[in-house]
Amino acid sequence: MNRWTEQCIPTLRNAPQDAEIASHRLMLRAGLIRKLAGGLYTFLPLGLRALRKVERIVREEMDRAGALEILMPALHPRDIWERTGRYDVLKEVMFKIHDRQDRELVLGPTHEEIVTNLVANEIQSYRQLPRNFYQIQTKFRDEIRPRFGLMRAKEFIMKDAYSFDIDDAGADVSYQRMYQAYGRIFERCGLRTKIVEADTGAMGGQSSHEFMVLADAGEDGLVECEACTYAANLERAEIGELPPAIHADAEAALEAVPTPGARTIAEVSTFLKAEPARMIKTLIYMVGDEPVAVLLPGDRDVNDIKLARALGGETPVLADDAQVEKVTGAPLGFAGPCGLEGVRLVADERLRGTRGAITGANQADTHFINVDLERDAPALTFADLALARTGDPCPRCGGRLQEKRGIEVGHVFKLGTKYSEKLGALYLDESSQQHPAIMGCYGIGVTRTLQSVIEQQHDKDGIIWPLGVAPYAVEVLIINAQHAPAVACGEGIARTLMEAGIETLLDDRDERPGVKFKDADLLGLPVRIGVGEKSLARGVVEVKRRTSGEVVECAPEDVLNILAAWGIGV
Ligand code: ATP
Ligand code: MG
Repeated sequence: MNRWTEQCIPTLRNAPQDAEIASHRLMLRAGLIRKLAGGLYTFLPLGLRALRKVERIVREEMDRAGALEILMPALHPRDIWERTGRYDVLKEVMFKIHDRQDRELVLGPTHEEIVTNLVANEIQSYRQLPRNFYQIQTKFRDEIRPRFGLMRAKEFIMKDAYSFDIDDAGADVSYQRMYQAYGRIFERCGLRTKIVEADTGAMGGQSSHEFMVLADAGEDGLVECEACTYAANLERAEIGELPPAIHADAEAALEAVPTPGARTIAEVSTFLKAEPARMIKTLIYMVGDEPVAVLLPGDRDVNDIKLARALGGETPVLADDAQVEKVTGAPLGFAGPCGLEGVRLVADERLRGTRGAITGANQADTHFINVDLERDAPALTFADLALARTGDPCPRCGGRLQEKRGIEVGHVFKLGTKYSEKLGALYLDESSQQHPAIMGCYGIGVTRTLQSVIEQQHDKDGIIWPLGVAPYAVEVLIINAQHAPAVACGEGIARTLMEAGIETLLDDRDERPGVKFKDADLLGLPVRIGVGEKSLARGVVEVKRRTSGEVVECAPEDVLNILAAWGIGV
């Protein structure tokens, strides 16, 4: 029997200061995890029980979808990462160590290289394909900002799967199968997720979707259309047709006007008594050694990923003050497209046809008015560069986009042949022609998923566990441990439930009832059965559901029936 007095459930009245979001605070307060150092956590018995449930759901659904479980090393020789060029791409994120022969090894942040190497050696023929390999394993990432407990850790558990197919049609089937399995996994974990189009980032490849748990504490921005099913990570979100941001019919000549000390859009707008909507924002970026001037409507922000794609090649980095001064000949705050020599100019789509605008004049304390972009900056090219925002038109149906915050719990990618070509995962077709296998990769943050369940389902008193991942289904709470009949009754109920296969925690502590009830709410197991002197005198115990707060009184021998009616133990 699982007695509290023989367990290790160190509940806390208050969470440590550095726990910033509800789920992190609750995991610490309910005694599920403990911090070792930034981004490194120990799972205590209760936390581990919940984690194992998530893992079991993931494993069952992966097996059901036909994926094959394997377990790859966490330590990788550096050279395999160099063969795909990702040693450089991920070198900041990878933990690196040396063995006694001074050979460099990395702790795996992900496993595309390792699994592709395996397939290169083990699979030769189209007859051996398709295959999908998965593992549930610890990953290591030297995150810039580990935070929010298990949400962004340095060491975390991921389920990663990798599919290998002979053609695109097959790869699509593998992708769809994982996509659907992910839907089932999160549903069984009691999570509501939103599926969004995503950027392929460092992984490369053609297309991808992320599974997001909507939450204000989410680190990802996303937009969803109020009218159709379009939803996308903000990094990726397109924007539908908008009228030009700035347009005046006047054909007035370009004119430089003094704007002493006015650098920001707000300052210039106040000084010139012109609405911010007439301003063009000019940002100087460096792409390697090459400066690029990026223009946006004054009230818009750059989407860095769209910008990188529009410029191609290296990642653009915002120029520092000294670089801006060197490129524009003016201090920060006075950059503009007119007369900028030797600088590539890129403007957001929404600036096409702009006339009558205000920009910096590349001269201290000076701005241009009456700017006609086509006339005054003919070298300009246009691209979609703006970050989408609430109210923008949907790129699919023209409906209204709405911004939300989300936590990425899963990610599916179509990879193509990038890894199979570089690492020689080739197969022979029916006529003995050699081709690279077509790959997909699919990740679920198992530890992040667990914490997301709590982020989505809690109240002011504590966690509200969905049955599928709760550490125990039922807590039997003996209200007064000094009262022998209550103790005997509570133990009897706990034993009956255990024999019926219902995971039960017995709070047998000799503590004040107030403390025990508070802890029960904090732990948030789906059902609490209170056994006390007063109700026993009436021949009943109190059965309470954590989700609805519904309370039912019943005779101790009827407890199993009540639970069965709630879907527990059937
Ligand atoms: P993020 O954008 O949040 O950094 P990612 O896109 O780099 O994540 P993937 O490489 O797609 O992550 O990894 C698959 C899954 O692993 C993610 O969907 C997420 O659930 C989880 N994950 C990634 N990084 C971490 C981390 N530092 N701590 C916990 N879980 C993580
Ligand atoms: Mg991702």
